[in-house]
Amino acid sequence: MSEKQVNTLRKFKQQMPKNRRRFRTFLTKLEKKAPKGIEKITAAIEKEVWQEVDCLTCANCCKTMTPTFTAADLKRISAHFGQTVEEFKEKWLYKERGSGDWMNKKQPCQFLNLKDNKCSIYEIRPDDCAGFPHLPKRMKDYVHVHKQNVEYCPATYKMVEKMIGQIDVK
Ligand code: SF4
Ligand code: SF4
Repeated sequence: MSEKQVNTLRKFKQQMPKNRRRFRTFLTKLEKKAPKGIEKITAAIEKEVWQEVDCLTCANCCKTMTPTFTAADLKRISAHFGQTVEEFKEKWLYKERGSGDWMNKKQPCQFLNLKDNKCSIYEIRPDDCAGFPHLPKRMKDYVHVHKQNVEYCPATYKMVEKMIGQIDVK
């Protein structure tokens, strides 16, 4: 692990409050009008981000957010534990009002090993976890998602920081 990657979460917590307003303003402008060629630029930036951020020194998503469990996730993960879907839901999840989505009751997530920040069901984790923080997705479609995640995720923070340095928004 490089020095840059050490204490990803600690640095993020120090820097985020100082930059929140600037980052939100940038993302709001980007949401309204993304400049031409943005996907090419963000693809290159994403590669840089993962050279500087190490999720195993962070795990803030698993500590402070909840994934949404799809029907396929529920079937796969409950079977892994020899439970029925209903038993699994009752033990760990609640149904969110409005959306009807199944979410974790607990934070940190019950499947996070707090000693090493590793997911104990990594191979069969929810699709939502596998896709997080959605940095390689088409930027134009995901700005609103990054706007929320930048509050929690140092990789998203780094992505936005680098975008501000390289992308002009009007
Ligand atoms: S995805 Fe983001 S919040 Fe989750 S561990 Fe990696 S850097 Fe941290
Ligand atoms: S299932 Fe694994 S990856 Fe998903 S929130 Fe829990 S610990 Fe993190």
